[in-house]
Amino acid sequence: MQCHLCLVKVGRGKWESGIHRRKCADNNLGVLQRLPIPFDVTCSICHGMLRQWPRRGPAFRCGGGRGCPAAMGGRPLPLDNNGANRFSCFECGFDLCRSCVQRRMRRRAEAAAVKEGQGMARGRRGQANRDPDLLQVREPSIRRLKLEYSDVR
Ligand SMILES: [Zn+2]
Ligand SMILES: [Zn+2]
Ligand SMILES: [Zn+2]
Repeated sequence: MQCHLCLVKVGRGKWESGIHRRKCADNNLGVLQRLPIPFDVTCSICHGMLRQWPRRGPAFRCGGGRGCPAAMGGRPLPLDNNGANRFSCFECGFDLCRSCVQRRMRRRAEAAAVKEGQGMARGRRGQANRDPDLLQVREPSIRRLKLEYSDVR
């Protein structure tokens, strides 16, 4: 594994345990903190913000899961980082591709819209609850009108 921050080759064990990344993040804290956070999307592991990774380091695998266009049967395929498509939490080794970042943004916008919609539906239900009362009031008067009409006949 090549570290996408310091570009040193790291043994798989050291990479997967996160030992290297923790040390590497400490050594390169300034570099990491200068990376932009263009989207309000967080790491699935630590919930820290994902940073847009510069065109640096080897291909990466997106952690977006089944919905990722770069996944085959749920298994992520390596993606070349073109400087605009990798969003990374370096410490956790968690990455998303651009389309998964956008999907998450969309899903959140939809969730917010649904929440708003539920608020509106609740308002409507409130009105619906008032409607039967109105009907009950109206109904006898209609019946009375009919009675009056038949009386006239
Ligand atoms: Zn490193
Ligand atoms: Zn993280
Ligand atoms: Zn993806």
